[in-house]
Amino acid sequence: MKSGKLIVLTGPSGVGKGTLVRSLLNRHPELYLSVSVTTRKPRDGEIEGQHYYFVSRSRFEEMVEAGELAEWAEFAGNFYGTPFFALKQGIGEGKLVILEIELEGARQIRNKFSEALRIFILPPSWEELERRLRSRGQDSEIAIARRLLRAKEEIEAAGEFDFQVINDDLEVALKKLESVLFVSDRK
Ligand code: 5GP
Repeated sequence: MKSGKLIVLTGPSGVGKGTLVRSLLNRHPELYLSVSVTTRKPRDGEIEGQHYYFVSRSRFEEMVEAGELAEWAEFAGNFYGTPFFALKQGIGEGKLVILEIELEGARQIRNKFSEALRIFILPPSWEELERRLRSRGQDSEIAIARRLLRAKEEIEAAGEFDFQVINDDLEVALKKLESVLFVSDRK
């Protein structure tokens, strides 16, 4: 597998990775989003096979045992992982494959696919991150507290990534991401 075609997008929960990725996919058909498996329950409006493959804990464990996941991690009480088949499909189609994953998974990808381009999305401020997480209205208070705790750890690791992009104004953040993804001399 050519790892140079992998793009890892990481950033704290609520930072707006999903919106950024959707906008990028709309604008650039050569990008391909790897769909993860998770043991989290679907939120309202989430579609099987589009947002995630929703699986039971035992099925997830089977996939880990069988070596079907390129990386996986526990996040806020649920398991998430990238199936190899999701990567192979995108790469087979000659696309740039985007993994939208949390920090532990990003570290595993760095160890396995050293050429993967790794980008960290930062919030404009801690207060704004908290406001965005709450305004989604999709998670319980306990889930929000867990996600905020994790967000602190993730933000502290932003320097491990090749690029950091602040998601304040969506259009500005998109332009910056496009410049990172599509300039030939990336560094
Ligand atoms: P959410 O529950 O909000 O959809 O996702 C929670 C966190 O899990 C987010 O930071 C998201 O990027 C991350 N995530 C989603 N899919 C994967 C995956 O396949 N692997 C890993 N390591 N993290 C993932």
